[in-house]
Order: sequence, then structure tokens, then C-alpha cells
Amino acid sequence: MSQKIQRFLAENQPDTPCLVVDLDVVSKHYQRLSQELPGVEIFYAVKANPAEEILTTLRDLGSKFDAASIYEIEQCLALEIAPDRLSFGHTIKKERHIGQAFDAGVRQFAFDSLEELQKLSRAAPGASVFCRFLTSNDGADWPLSDKFGCNPDFVPELLCRAAELGLAPTGISFHVGSQQRDPATWDAALSVAARIFSDAKERGIKLSMLNIGGGFPSHYRAPKQELAVHTNAIKRGLQKHFADFVPKVIVEPGRYIPGDAGIIQSEVVLISRKSPDAQKRWVYLDIGKFGGLPEVLDEAIQYRLRTPQDGGQTGPVILAGPTCDEVDVIYDAAGYELPLDLAVGDLVEILSAGAYTASYSSVGFNGFPPLKEYYI
Ligand SMILES: *Cc1c(COP(=O)(O)O)cnc(C)c1O
Repeated sequence: MSQKIQRFLAENQPDTPCLVVDLDVVSKHYQRLSQELPGVEIFYAVKANPAEEILTTLRDLGSKFDAASIYEIEQCLALEIAPDRLSFGHTIKKERHIGQAFDAGVRQFAFDSLEELQKLSRAAPGASVFCRFLTSNDGADWPLSDKFGCNPDFVPELLCRAAELGLAPTGISFHVGSQQRDPATWDAALSVAARIFSDAKERGIKLSMLNIGGGFPSHYRAPKQELAVHTNAIKRGLQKHFADFVPKVIVEPGRYIPGDAGIIQSEVVLISRKSPDAQKRWVYLDIGKFGGLPEVLDEAIQYRLRTPQDGGQTGPVILAGPTCDEVDVIYDAAGYELPLDLAVGDLVEILSAGAYTASYSSVGFNGFPPLKEYYI
């Protein structure tokens, strides 16, 4: 945790649960990615954390933005981000939202089906479109594979159809899955991408843009992975598979940019055992799946935790959230242990919680307000 956050928490003692994000770390991660991938354009995936402070920080650093909805587009425009810095990167859009984005000046749209292309041709005539294809999401803790992207073999035909419909088929995209921890995945995806480039060329479509999506990991419970593990794999893959023609490459980091910049401070509400001799204690925090930790669904994302008693003797726990809902359990099978002298009222810090938390928290399930946020 950054000293800035530590100082903020000590001085302000905010009510819990709350998210505190250090904007210096957001900037640092943006700059690191841009240094590691020179010449590659960065489109920040707004959905990871759409806080105004994050968007303006990245705007001032020159970032472009990948928007998932017309609402994110409107938010960016309201922050004086020019429409030519926006990409409507979602493959599932209402036709009237496409039209609104187009009228506002957005000219880059994603698709992965003929049906979406038809909408685009009507609502965004002549716009640049890129086709998302399916790629393996093995190695990702939060896969994004089945719902998005078409079969790679189908892409050249869709690109031809786009041209026939008066659109400008400029590129293709993929996403290796969020919190991707296997760098080998990049080579496989880039090899398929190169094949699509050459198949499209044979059919008369000259692609110029390759969108390699997001997936760069944050530092959760597994050992920390340096960004370079991934960016080096990307650079090697581009050299190998795009040897004679290097397209314009764009990247859409979401999680990586704000993830490690934030911590959630929470409070222990209850510690109990189901029977006097039960092995595992139940530890209930004032945040759970509905309060900003939906990514613990199926225990997929496993955060690092910090308690005031760290270093003392620990025992196994089932960690749960505060709501009256059976599914509001955070970790059981993941085998977390917490200090034996942890007590009700203690503060538990959830580290690297700057992405996919606050914007994901419910508006008032059980009456609990949305997660409070501080950007410093
Ligand atoms: C969610 C998403 C991203 C960001 O993914 P991360 O794993 O958070 O980096 C990028 N591109 C698209 C199209 C997405 O849907």
C-alpha cells in the first residue's frame, strides 16, 4: 500500500467500507505500459474504474478510451475527451446508442456478428469497424471468452460483409481474458491474428489495425508478476507473426491501470463458530459480493488481505460479507487463514482493489449504501 494511502487513512479515519485510490500509481502504471510497448496506442477500458479522477488523470497523460456503453461515452465527452479518442469497444449495442455515439463524433466500433454489422451500417455509416474473434482464455482468472468474439474462421467473411455494407473494416481484436497470468497465451492469439490478416488480404481486405485487448494482471494473492513478462511476450509474438507487415497496435488495459492503486478498508462485524469445536471461524466483514467485491464470485479473484495482527498465529476462516444473502460468502474453498486474535471492530485491508470494485457495488442491497470512494 502506498504511503499516501496510509497517511490518508491515518489522518481521516474514514467510515468503512471505503475504497482509497492513489492517482500517482494510476499514472505510474499508465506510463509503465506506454514505455513497455512503445508505439502502441493505449485505450483505457473505462469499465475497470470509471471515476472522474481516473479518467481526467489519464486524459491529461494522453490516453484514449475504450467505452462499453453510450453512458461511458457521454461521461468521457463531458470530461472534454474528444470523440476521436474514444472507441465503442463493446460488441453488443443498441442501434440507437450506436447512432448517438456516431452523432457525437465517435468513429471506431467493435462487432463480432453480421447482425451487429447491419446495425452499424445503418446507425454509423462509413465508420471504422473492427471484428473481435474468440481466443483461448486459459490462464485467466476472470475469463471473457464465450460471450464475446466470433470464430476466427468467420472473421474474413464478416470483414467482407462490412465493406459491402459501406463500413470501413480496419482491424481485428481479441481479449486473452482478464487477470491473465500465462504469458504464453499472447503468442497463440497473435498467431491466429496474423492468419486472419493474411486471409483477409486474400479476399481483398487490407487491415491496418490490431487491437490486443486487456488482461494485464494486478497483484492479488498469487506471486506478483511484472508487466514485462506480458509485454515481452507481446513484442516477441508481434515480431514472429507480423514479420513483414506491422499493423498499428492498440491495447485496452482495464484492471492493470487502477488495480494496484487502490485499497479497500473494511471492518470486522462478527467472528463466530458454528459449534464450539468447529475448525473454521466465520469472519464477517462489512463488505462482500454486493458491496464491491463481485469478482470473488466462485472465488475467482483472490485479494491479498492485511490485518492489524499480521505476523501472529493464524487459523482457517470462511470469509463472508454483511448482507442477508446466502451467496454473500467471499472465500471458503480458497483456504484463507487469518490471525487467531483478530477481533470484532478490527480493520481489514483488501489490497489491489482499485479495479472492478466501486463501480460494481450495488446501489443499496439490504440498505447498504454504495462503496465510498476517495481519489487522492
Ligand atoms: C473489459 C475489457 C477490457 C479490459 O480488460 P482487463 O482485463 O481489465 O484489462 C478491454 N477490452 C475490452 C473489449 C473489454 O471488454
